[in-house]
Amino acid sequence: MAKEQRDLSTNKAKIAVVGGGIAGSTIALYLSEIGLDITLFEKGPSLVNGPPVCHLHAGGNLYREISDQQCVTLLKESIDLIRFYPDAIDHRPTVIAVPTDDSGSPKELYSRLNMLQAEYTALIDVDEKNRVLGESSDYFRLYEREEIEALKNEKVVDEPTQMDHWMIPVAKNIDLEKVQFPLIMVQEYGLNLFRLASSATLTLNEKENCQVLLEHKVTDLTKSEEDESWLVKYRHKGTIEQDSFDFLINAAGFRTGDLDNMLGFERERFVEFKAAYVSQWEGCDSTWPEVIFYGERGTPKGMAQFTPYPGGYFQLHGMTKEITLFEDGLVKSSQQDAQPQLKTKFIEKIENEWDPSDIKRRSESAIEHLAQYIPAFDSAKVVSKPLYGAQQIPGLDADLRAANVSFVDEYYARCEIVKASSVLSMADTITRQLITLGYVDESVHKRRGFSTMEELDRGVISRQAESLCRARDYPVALTQRSAAAHHMSA
Ligand SMILES: Cc1cc2nc3c(=O)[nH]c(=O)nc-3n(C[C@H](O)[C@H](O)[C@H](O)COP(=O)(O)OP(=O)(O)OC[C@H]3O[C@@H](n4cnc5c(N)ncnc54)[C@H](O)[C@@H]3O)c2cc1C
Repeated sequence: MAKEQRDLSTNKAKIAVVGGGIAGSTIALYLSEIGLDITLFEKGPSLVNGPPVCHLHAGGNLYREISDQQCVTLLKESIDLIRFYPDAIDHRPTVIAVPTDDSGSPKELYSRLNMLQAEYTALIDVDEKNRVLGESSDYFRLYEREEIEALKNEKVVDEPTQMDHWMIPVAKNIDLEKVQFPLIMVQEYGLNLFRLASSATLTLNEKENCQVLLEHKVTDLTKSEEDESWLVKYRHKGTIEQDSFDFLINAAGFRTGDLDNMLGFERERFVEFKAAYVSQWEGCDSTWPEVIFYGERGTPKGMAQFTPYPGGYFQLHGMTKEITLFEDGLVKSSQQDAQPQLKTKFIEKIENEWDPSDIKRRSESAIEHLAQYIPAFDSAKVVSKPLYGAQQIPGLDADLRAANVSFVDEYYARCEIVKASSVLSMADTITRQLITLGYVDESVHKRRGFSTMEELDRGVISRQAESLCRARDYPVALTQRSAAAHHMSA
């Protein structure tokens, strides 16, 4: 039977989502919320277990090299994501410091920050519920050296409620000779991987119209010549089975190209292997903001990122080849192969274990990199394996950060997120396509505010997040949020 002959108005379309990372799980959840019939295939034992996330890029201020337009998109998308996954957000601001030996200056950032503040104000004017980053007048604040020197003498505040409170540990601990002034505090919050995994898992478990198939690896895809449906072959516990679907969503993360290859579709994309490191700073009892020290990517001065968790735990990135980036870690697809081929040493790390000496060397380099700016941090210890994985970047621009869905066939959508925040824009684009195809009603487009997520019990989310974290062998502090106020006033 040809597709045109099917009754597409009865919501009976069968939709397959391949890949249960942030993209696949969120899109499966979104589409099931609007009443569609979803089957989610994930080859691993749990959902949202791909490369890590820790920053919600609400304004893209970590990236000087991207366009203003991408920053605005990241701001809007992040606000949407906070509203969708309220319990996955770590409410702490980000401090941006430009090192004295960096070629840039804080002044160069002002016009973008002002523009983002105006955009945030406009978003609140459109919908009051968008006020999720605090008051727009507090979106960012500049701190001159005299103010930082004054904050050095203040007592640390366990539960910060004001921007000044957050700045106290920074003032007391960073080497003020190594940074330019002003320092910038911006309301870019954290995104908690384990709480997001927990929220998505618990909500999907409640959905009768979404079948979550864990440990089901898709091994082949074909398009039926008879009725143009997608035939999905999958392996589960050593047995190969198959099913057919009307619409196919490829959310296979850095493996998206493998699925394109199964279908014979060409695609230009990058894949990049990267890692972040987990440390504990004994004796650190302050509630820190995120701190970013800018630097040129890929050089020994690459950007240093200091991401706090309760209990003195810090996740560290250093955009140098000895820390977060890797020699040959960025690979590109070719005309013959839509899947960029990472070297075996990276695949080994993703699929098996890291060499312990590699963990020690790179984690210690990360601690040393941050201790250039926060001298007392040199006493920090490595406490677990790194958080790592391969990130996909669609297209030809390796600096792209805000990506959207691509279609090669009107019944086949690829969701190649670079940053987690893009996932709801992708859900909107797919919904638009499903409306065009007649599977859902126009009224569901850009729907927000689903009750299932809002009704989740906070304690249950925390317990599920801890259980996922333990099963993956990371310290449970990585699931916890600081006891900070949601909204800060200046
Ligand atoms: C070190 C590092 C730090 C990062 N930090 C941030 C950050 O702070 N903020 C941010 O927004 N982003 C960050 N990113 C990027 C972010 O991690 C990714 O964009 C995101 O995790 C990708 O999610 P995904 O769902 O597309 O892919 P994945 O999480 O990789 O999910 C794809 C899923 O598909 C499954 N799969 C693949 N093939 C098949 C198959 N054949 N059958 C069944 N299942 C299959 C996989 O098992 C996997 O679970 C970071 C990336 C790295 C590497």
